[in-house]
Amino acid sequence: MAAAAAAKVQEVREITRIERIGAHSHIRGLGLDDSLEARQVSQGMVGQLSARRAVGIVLQMVREGRIAGRAVLLAGQPGTGKTAIATALAAALGIDTPFTSMAGSEIYSLEMGKTEALTQAIRKSIGVRIKEESEIIEGEVVEVQIERPATGVGSKVGKLILKTTDMETVYDLGGKMIDSIMKEKVQAGDVITIDKATGKISRLGRSFTRARDYDATGQQTRFVQCPEGELQKRKEVVHTVTLHEIDVINSRTHGFLALFSGDTGEIKAEVREQINGKVAEWREEGKAEIIPGVLFIDEVHMLDIECFSFLNRALENEMSPIVIMATNRGITRIRGTNYKSPHGIPLDLLDRMIIVPTVPYNEKELKEILSIRCEEEDCQMSDDALVVLTRICTETSLRYAIQLITTSSLIARKRKAVEVGVEDVKRAYTLFLDEARSIQYLREYQKEFMFDETDEPAEMDV
Ligand code: ATP
Repeated sequence: MAAAAAAKVQEVREITRIERIGAHSHIRGLGLDDSLEARQVSQGMVGQLSARRAVGIVLQMVREGRIAGRAVLLAGQPGTGKTAIATALAAALGIDTPFTSMAGSEIYSLEMGKTEALTQAIRKSIGVRIKEESEIIEGEVVEVQIERPATGVGSKVGKLILKTTDMETVYDLGGKMIDSIMKEKVQAGDVITIDKATGKISRLGRSFTRARDYDATGQQTRFVQCPEGELQKRKEVVHTVTLHEIDVINSRTHGFLALFSGDTGEIKAEVREQINGKVAEWREEGKAEIIPGVLFIDEVHMLDIECFSFLNRALENEMSPIVIMATNRGITRIRGTNYKSPHGIPLDLLDRMIIVPTVPYNEKELKEILSIRCEEEDCQMSDDALVVLTRICTETSLRYAIQLITTSSLIARKRKAVEVGVEDVKRAYTLFLDEARSIQYLREYQKEFMFDETDEPAEMDV
């Protein structure tokens, strides 16, 4: 029995661990010092100094709320850390600033149109900080009445009479208040607080016993006093929600539960217009503040001309987030047209972007990144093995080398070694092909596969 429980604990632990290690889980921030200079190795980031510094300036602008509607393009070869830098920016921004990350190809989902998908992504990246004054009323309960509806269906209704210094007030009880009352077992004579903003009712801890008198047998005899006065404490409550969350909550077809399932479908333009109007009103009254967050679109060349023109227009909106895009493409066709342009992005959009290039790493940096990843994956690797892995990395790709960490560590575990040695890395290298060897293999053995199309010109629309 105890052994089974122990096994269960072990299992749970393993799962948490698996979830924690993602491709970028070693990244905890941009690794900048106070003057926004990039440290060579810091917060899990290595090298790529000028790109990190540039994104550090973007970070500063976001923090100062000065960069709404700007677009930044991270452009560089595969594996040069574009996604890593965007992840680092998200980590540095903190949880109060909305950050949405999506791949360009995600907009082709069947659930909704392309521009709707982009609109939702944009609105997920704009925060609304709402300030609310909460009014807390404190008093003595004179009477509570809760009734079930006659038919037995539907929710309960009720009334609460609360006595404060100079008056008795009758409150109609909503479902939430009734739940609170039942939970707290509120009855006549109790001293309670009602939070008017949330409808939450709390019985004042044990303090109400002070207000009661007991006879020698411990029987309650009478109420002697209740706290004087209508204690109206005002406090400010601040919530930060995204525009998208407000849209979903107010969309009659979905309801707020859709926020949990993510299944929000299309949202009507009228709903959005109403919400924009409401938010503008709140801003004028000083009740709300807009926080432009960050929308990160990876593989931006996957967007088509319609999406690009939509984005171009959306960026003009005063409530637009900062949009960071990444691409590893050179001059290529703009999807949906026959025109070619740098990174597959139309020139007019490109013209309004700040472009941050990422460059290939040198051997020392690659070794550092691999060593950080070994640590992240709890893999002990000998120095020699790390040198061999770095060599493989320079000849293949960073991604491939990172993959070999897990595989070679499993191979080492099989031979019961505590440390991954050169032989394990070599074995993993022979077992798993990198891209170049895979292509070569296909060239040699193409005839034995189905659908040999090597004679036809390659037309890849990716
Ligand atoms: P692609 O163009 O193929 O999407 P990319 O430029 O987005 O590539 P990443 O996915 O960021 O490349 O990098 C590949 C791997 O290397 C990731 O696991 C990433 O976390 C890691 N990595 C890249 N650059 C750095 C860096 N400067 N410091 C630490 N880790 C890095």
